[in-house]
Amino acid sequence: MNNSGRVLAKVGYYLLLAITVVFGVAVLGGVIAARFVPGVAKVTEKLDMAIVSGTLAAMLLAYVASIFLIRRRYNAASSSEISKLAGALRSKDEQAAILIQSIADGVIVTDTEGKINLMNRAAANMTGWTVEEAININVEQVFKVAKENGEEIPKEEYPFTAVLAHKAFFNQVLQLNSRDGSRKRIISLVISPVVTPTGEVFGAVAVLRDISEQREAERQRAEFVSTASHEMRTPVAAIEGYLALALNEKVSTIDSRARGYLEKAYASTKHLGKLFQDLLTTTKAEDGRLSNHPVVVEMGAFLEQLTEDLKFTATKKGLNSEFIVGSSGSIDATTREETSIKVVRPLYYVHVDPDRIREVITNLFDNAVKYTQQGKITIGLTGNDEVVQIFVRDTGAGIPPEHVPHLFQKFYRVDNSATRTIGGTGLGLFICRKIIELYNGRIWVVSELGKGSTFYINLPRLSTQKAQELAQAQAAADAKKPQEDTAAAQPAAQTATTAQTQSQ
Ligand code: ADP
Repeated sequence: MNNSGRVLAKVGYYLLLAITVVFGVAVLGGVIAARFVPGVAKVTEKLDMAIVSGTLAAMLLAYVASIFLIRRRYNAASSSEISKLAGALRSKDEQAAILIQSIADGVIVTDTEGKINLMNRAAANMTGWTVEEAININVEQVFKVAKENGEEIPKEEYPFTAVLAHKAFFNQVLQLNSRDGSRKRIISLVISPVVTPTGEVFGAVAVLRDISEQREAERQRAEFVSTASHEMRTPVAAIEGYLALALNEKVSTIDSRARGYLEKAYASTKHLGKLFQDLLTTTKAEDGRLSNHPVVVEMGAFLEQLTEDLKFTATKKGLNSEFIVGSSGSIDATTREETSIKVVRPLYYVHVDPDRIREVITNLFDNAVKYTQQGKITIGLTGNDEVVQIFVRDTGAGIPPEHVPHLFQKFYRVDNSATRTIGGTGLGLFICRKIIELYNGRIWVVSELGKGSTFYINLPRLSTQKAQELAQAQAAADAKKPQEDTAAAQPAAQTATTAQTQSQ
């Protein structure tokens, strides 16, 4: 029943009630008056008392009937509405259940006590429990996980416990053991607390994905990378060296046709050398052996110089290059002096190994040149109190959106006609990410097909005071070093002299 219907029913009900009361009072008044007032009695004597009481009874009946009918109508309408609503809710429930059951990733929902309220088929397959068995069982019994390397997880760090205790998200790669222990899977696990807007925790919801195959593939690749880089780097370096000697006019005499062949061979060998170097860097980055000597670096001056150094690569391909400071790009370090606008450039200090950052920017710049046919490459610098942001922007072909999330993975290359003709290893961006992560930074790309790409790097910014403190500490350490070196060199020299004396 809609609102106006409800109002009409109520009005009708009260009208009938009022009429009944008025008539009832009138008739009752008449009867009483007939009994005590002689004049009235005369009139009423003529009326048949049976009619009076009949009217009274009929009114009473009408009154009761009206109440009954109105109530019934009202109730019937309400209950049909309720059943409709319940139907709708049921179908929404069913829809949600079907959706959750159809998700290829495992889903587990627990209450605040850690009892499983909901589990889908994928999660059941991974755990080795049936959905029916797992419901209402404590999640720790069903969902047995260890660290990725098989190490046990301390009880208080058990993912669901931690999420429910700290109301915090959990996102890690773990090992999931099946119910009978026969199967160990590597899963990527994300658990979120279910929190009301008032901050009350209702439980936790987990999404788990089996990444065992992906991990195995990664392990095999890493093994290959490590073997290849160790075994092949030395002979390739030797070939490169001999080819360089053959091409050196002071050392070798070759005819012009042979020179053409050798130049090609030399270029290819250099490319191969780069591949092995990348492979080696990759393996080092992965097992934490990448050399890293962080110092305080002022990014403005550093990037200005680096852009100058890199300019040549762009110019060779007919591309412009520039360095800009400031978010809008309107403050340009190279035009500052030309236009004589006095701009106080902020000092963007970071604590990084300059060689490593140079490697990253050079890689991004080389890629920008490689994948851009015309236009310009911009190296930019901006930031706020917390962050220093560097970007490398090009006006090239751009990257199809479906590839963007994978670009920083090892060996990932966009496969299209352009990249097939442009050489590359698919390791450059992976190495960049690994280096940036060394400094708790972040690297990502924003790209538009046909317009170009911008690679962004965020690094934690050092305040000027902190930068000065670190630089002083660094200088003090450096000043100590030569003395230590001399001290260390002294006994070594002495030993050398002693050895010489003995051998004489
Ligand atoms: P590669 O050696 O293949 O360049 P990277 O790891 O440096 O390896 O880059 C991975 C892939 O990302 C490249 O193969 C290319 O498809 C894409 N890519 C990287 N930089 C750019 C860019 N500036 N413009 C367009 N595509 C790019």
